[in-house]
Amino acid sequence: MDCFHCSKSAVIEVQHGALCKTHFINYFEEKVLKTINKYRLIGRKDILCVATSGGKDSLTVLYLTKKYCERNNIPTKNIRALAIDEGIAEYREKTIIDLQKFCSDHQIPLEIVSFETELGKTLDQAYPIINKGTQKKPCNVCGVWRRYLLNKYAAKSGATKVITGHNLDDEAQVIMMNIFKANTQLAGRMGPISGIEESEHFIQRVKPLYFCLEKEVRLYALLKGFQVQFTECPYSKEGFRHHVQEMLNDFEQKYKGTKQGIINSFLALLPNIREQEKGRIDEIKQCSRCGEAANKEVCNACVMKEMIING
Ligand code: SF4
Ligand SMILES: [Zn+2]
Ligand SMILES: [Zn+2]
Repeated sequence: MDCFHCSKSAVIEVQHGALCKTHFINYFEEKVLKTINKYRLIGRKDILCVATSGGKDSLTVLYLTKKYCERNNIPTKNIRALAIDEGIAEYREKTIIDLQKFCSDHQIPLEIVSFETELGKTLDQAYPIINKGTQKKPCNVCGVWRRYLLNKYAAKSGATKVITGHNLDDEAQVIMMNIFKANTQLAGRMGPISGIEESEHFIQRVKPLYFCLEKEVRLYALLKGFQVQFTECPYSKEGFRHHVQEMLNDFEQKYKGTKQGIINSFLALLPNIREQEKGRIDEIKQCSRCGEAANKEVCNACVMKEMIING
């Protein structure tokens, strides 16, 4: 198959045709940079904290954040990378090595915060203790602690925006999970930019890869020669999300454009959802124990920490 724009052989077929390596890289970068512009994800005065893991999504978003800033004369000294080391044996230590190399090659300061230092246990150690009392899956424990540490350390570094590498597949999965579980009040926080204005307790999250399929991010990272492990977390197959992911991949294969359709429908509904949820999502409280953002008296991270201590 030849490229839609030139006679070179194609590396991928996107919505409007097949693309060669050069035209795919252009297409992908333009899509991301346009998303940043259209949704005003990055402002001139922003201090940017990029949430990184060393995987393909985070290296791609880190690289393109820097590129966007360079292109728009925004000082790149305002970019920093923050990684959370959950303590997942045979997995996270490898991606962190890739991340350290990437940050050093691109002169981006990197801070690494670990579950072990903050919580006294790695995820591998903490998860069985929490699971005993609550039946929670590793991803539930991991998600709560990662969000908590990300917000805490992003705030400490003075960040005004947290940039994440969530792609279109991730978002489509969460939309479907929320529908299946009737979790409507979380929907208002989604979208390319989180629905809550920056507050003392919560820093706005932005997602420049929002319109990029997972397979596009994978190919981009590969073609750019990023040193990255294309392996998955050993816990990734244990959760509800994995089943939703498989279902969507199956649908996408049979009915091309399914994932994009979910995102488009969601974005069309989002203004109404946010309007309805306004009172509720504006009301971010402070955890009475740790002082971090919470939607109840004691945050989930503190509840889990107590279980571990008593565990
Ligand atoms: S797959 Fe689950 S346990 Fe693994 S890093 Fe992601 S959220 Fe954490
Ligand atoms: Zn071409
Ligand atoms: Zn707390």
